[in-house]
Amino acid sequence: MAITPQQPNQLRPLAGQGPQRISLEQIDAKSLSKDKIRDMFRQGKLPSADQIVEEILIRAIQSGANDIHFEPIEGEMQIRLGHEGTLKRLLSLPPDMNDPIISVLKSRATLNQFEKKKPQEGRYSAVYGNEALDFRVNVIPVLSGERCLVRLLRKTASISRIEELGFSKENLERLRALLRSPRGLLLVTGPSGSGKSTTVYAAVNHVASPEKCVITVEDPVEYRLPYASQVHLPPDKSFNFIDALRAILRQNPNIIMIGEIRDAETGIVAGEAALTGNLVLSTMLADDAIGAIHRLLNLGVPAYWLASTVVGIVYQLLIRKICPNCKEEYQLSSEELQMVGAPMESSDLKLFRGRGCPNCLGTGYKGRVAISEIVTISPALRDMIFQKESILTMRAEAANFGFQAIRQDAIRKALTGITTLQEITRVLG
Ligand SMILES: [Zn+2]
Repeated sequence: MAITPQQPNQLRPLAGQGPQRISLEQIDAKSLSKDKIRDMFRQGKLPSADQIVEEILIRAIQSGANDIHFEPIEGEMQIRLGHEGTLKRLLSLPPDMNDPIISVLKSRATLNQFEKKKPQEGRYSAVYGNEALDFRVNVIPVLSGERCLVRLLRKTASISRIEELGFSKENLERLRALLRSPRGLLLVTGPSGSGKSTTVYAAVNHVASPEKCVITVEDPVEYRLPYASQVHLPPDKSFNFIDALRAILRQNPNIIMIGEIRDAETGIVAGEAALTGNLVLSTMLADDAIGAIHRLLNLGVPAYWLASTVVGIVYQLLIRKICPNCKEEYQLSSEELQMVGAPMESSDLKLFRGRGCPNCLGTGYKGRVAISEIVTISPALRDMIFQKESILTMRAEAANFGFQAIRQDAIRKALTGITTLQEITRVLG
């Protein structure tokens, strides 16, 4: 099987090393009038769309952003950076700039320039300074033009250990036990951007060793794993996920990691791999741990198949941590006391929050940590999957085996001063 190595196709300078850096502030429609910028643009006095995109990318990389949103809104093109789940405005441009900017992004991701009526997705790699990055470019047509999201994946980021991800002591123990299973399907679920990949890589790294054969199939490869053979799905689609997985099974692996289960077909092949005596790890979109079972059933994965393969499901979200520089204690309101489930008489209960300082750009938060719930599939639960029981019935059964809902994990993280109640409400509602 051909494995296409992903070569960075461009080498770029970073901050201060490049001759042609431009000032975004000078062309921001919030500081200059749109008419003025439009005139400059028409007279060719503005930096080129290519230079503007380049500067936006450099700013995003330097500030540690995870994604960049380019969107045409009422009378302007707004560009915002996504940091740890919240958006910050970077720049506004006149609406005329939307087309040229989107065009540059499409060209870098080798998308069809002339297609403006359908969604498109592509990616490319580039090196900035010493950092290798993958850029995933997603374009959708909206009322006033096209909206583009660029996701930044840092390839040089190192793999975390499962102990470093923020799992509670109980959940870490549960995960370790699941990873000792010689075979079966272990799913890491959550919405997009919830750190699923980081967890699944850490989990593979935890079980990988020179005595075991570890093969992964990914689209694209996000981290390099020691002790593993990594199959990267080629952008030209010369072979697909199912081809790769069937071929991998013939190579006699012990542990298989699958980037993501997206449909019934990948779900079934993953199950097949688990049935043939492998420990299979994968990620999947889901709203909670038990919900993942129903999602797979709804996708069309047969119940008997699931019941005989799934060993456990991790569901996780990322929550912002209080900035250590400006952390302060405060007295809880009665509403907050109710939220943490404390009796009203314990009104002197104190919790923590960030005041906001230069270290956290005034947000009061710095860095993120996972909150999670992990369900281990007991024999009774296995039977319930087979019978396609309701989510509520399965949840009640899981609770008998010590399953704790994600909210409990989050509240515990607020009580121990890792995060705030406001942040829990933002993430969990
Ligand atoms: Zn701070």
